[in-house]
Amino acid sequence: MKRFRYARPERLEAALRLLREPGAKALAGGTDLLTELKARTQEPELLVSVQGLQEPGLRGVREDERFVRIGALTTLRELEAHPLVRDKLPILAQAAQTVAMPQIRHVGTVGGNLMQQVRCWYYRHPFVRCWLKGGEECYAEEGLNHRHAIFGTSPCIAVHPSDLAPALIALDAQARVVGPDVEGELALEELYRLPDERSRARTVLGPADLILEILVPKPSEPTRVRGVYLKAMERATWSFAVVSVAARLSFEPGSEGVRARVGDARLVLGGVAGKPWRARDAEAALRGSPLTDEAIERAAEAAVAGAQPRAHNAYKIELTRALVKRALRSLLPP
Ligand SMILES: Cc1cc2nc3c(=O)[nH]c(=O)nc-3n(C[C@H](O)[C@H](O)[C@H](O)COP(=O)(O)OP(=O)(O)OC[C@H]3O[C@@H](n4cnc5c(N)ncnc54)[C@H](O)[C@@H]3O)c2cc1C
Repeated sequence: MKRFRYARPERLEAALRLLREPGAKALAGGTDLLTELKARTQEPELLVSVQGLQEPGLRGVREDERFVRIGALTTLRELEAHPLVRDKLPILAQAAQTVAMPQIRHVGTVGGNLMQQVRCWYYRHPFVRCWLKGGEECYAEEGLNHRHAIFGTSPCIAVHPSDLAPALIALDAQARVVGPDVEGELALEELYRLPDERSRARTVLGPADLILEILVPKPSEPTRVRGVYLKAMERATWSFAVVSVAARLSFEPGSEGVRARVGDARLVLGGVAGKPWRARDAEAALRGSPLTDEAIERAAEAAVAGAQPRAHNAYKIELTRALVKRALRSLLPP
């Protein structure tokens, strides 16, 4: 591991000042970043721990009139166990419960989970200089790509790994960010980008920007909204999503003899693209119709239309189709 300096400021202004130094990097729980340091995929000059910050709102879950507010330093364990999250945002509680295992969830934070780096084995290998690490080539493109993207165009085909991100995007969450490149609230969906020749970054945040809070709007009519997070894994625990689905539907009440119709629909896929992937055509296919078997079939087909599998990952198309159907069936009103 390369030598680095370490700072643990208590004031946000001090952290932001330190983060502007060349080669500085924010450190939260360290469950991702420290593994990157050991593998030399990141070699910062200065680690700025955000764990000492005393800023209000950075830790814990609370609500105001419009939002459930989640501090970026809230651990995944706190998140999954919090009564507000379990009661008002069950999609998010379900997603948090599937992350890694309890040891990681006790230490890993919400901000770190949203900003973690990809798990591609070429990227994570200390001796491979893949495109994402500044090299010439994405070795997964012609190599071992069974866990890689089936959607999106980018020179890097690694998939976005966070379970929280699809769930939060399905919930229309915003991130409150402070820093020199991004300041204010932005839709979480806008946080992510596919890396390209212009920039190999996977988010719009610069190295000195910090997520402070996640704001999840409270549904105005909660009884009409149903949601679920489903994740296909290689084993039942300690496994990133092979494919995941965060689905949230609102229902217009039906009258006698008339079935409830879907009002708004959100379907966000994980494990299939370099960023959380909105299945917009599937959402459109659901809006305005009752949630019948035919509507579910149509939406599942729309969710995989346009997929571009590589040599070893065509199975993800069938897996996505099946997971979308399972998710939607679980949302049928009683
Ligand atoms: C064995 C294992 C299994 C895992 N399985 C899963 C899984 O199934 N699903 C899943 O979603 N994740 C999984 N993870 C990833 C895990 O959830 C993340 O490592 C963890 O959430 C990162 O949080 P952290 O606080 O430790 O972040 P750190 O490691 O401290 O930081 C990660 C990155 O986020 C940046 N960062 C941290 N906080 C902020 C902030 N507030 N604002 C801006 N940038 C910030 C850091 O600079 C760094 O780049 C797994 C990890 C391991 C080690």
